[in-house]
Amino acid sequence: MTTTDRATDWKLVIHGGAGVIERAQLERAPGKEREIRDGLGRALAAGAVLDGGGTALDAVDAAVRVLEDDPNFNAGHGAVMTYDGKIELDAAIMDGRTREAGAVTGVTATRNPIGLARQVMEASDHVMLGGDGADAFSRQQGLTQVNPSYFATDYRRSQIETFKASEISALDLEYRYGTVGAVALDSHGHVAAATSTGGMTGKRWNRIGDTPIIGAGTYADDRAGAVSATGSGEMFIRVGVAHEICARMRLLGEDATTAAETVMKEVAAIDGSGGVIVVTPRGEMVYSFNSAGMYRGKADANGRRVAIFGDEEQR
Ligand code: ASP
Repeated sequence: MTTTDRATDWKLVIHGGAGVIERAQLERAPGKEREIRDGLGRALAAGAVLDGGGTALDAVDAAVRVLEDDPNFNAGHGAVMTYDGKIELDAAIMDGRTREAGAVTGVTATRNPIGLARQVMEASDHVMLGGDGADAFSRQQGLTQVNPSYFATDYRRSQIETFKASEISALDLEYRYGTVGAVALDSHGHVAAATSTGGMTGKRWNRIGDTPIIGAGTYADDRAGAVSATGSGEMFIRVGVAHEICARMRLLGEDATTAAETVMKEVAAIDGSGGVIVVTPRGEMVYSFNSAGMYRGKADANGRRVAIFGDEEQR
């Protein structure tokens, strides 16, 4: 059977965060660019489960786990620190086939928060659990626990020190990029989305961003598509980005590029920045971002490609 004989050709799109990602900046850290590109490549490879007829849900889960384990991204190991030097992780996952969803906020000890979000979806009656309760649910479900120091890296420690010393706004893009996400279409025609983050460097007061909010940072609906976002979470929540993109496709019949670009303009109009990745059951794979760059990658039966800077592959 050739790939074109399948009911649907599978697709996978990932992001590793958006922000002020410029060549000059990465050139100051030799080897970093390669590490980041390799990490994105490994995440796309984990999504290869799709090639064997696996589900979109398993693919986005697997791709996000790889990025959570990679210290170069702001999720899981290597996540950013709060103002108090702690790490509070947010994650969400959604199945476009059933519109079932699971999300966690402010979790501190689950090695892979995306797995906990999935457990909330599959093993609880709820969509969203937070803080101590979510940590307790994770232990009760037998998910792998780690000492919170597992998540911390020297780079993030120095970043929070600089942040505090210079009183940079928590919204400063340079201190934010690294959130990870994946959207997939499987060969059965179903879509799924997953997003995971440490949130914003220097966040306080149990601040929660868009990532774990179904409809803001993460959404999937087989009638439209799957979306994962990264950027200034407050503005993404206010626009309801991920759901709004799906709603435009479903109700207005817009293609994914038009829907994503229109909604990203709404984000820009309220001074938000960042980006989204989208796949649709029709097989569209879209990046749309208004930041200088976005760590990103795409895979399908024709191969894999990754990009970082704004002037590389745009769509
Ligand atoms: N959107 C994330 C948040 O606001 C941060 C990011 O994507 O960089 O928590």
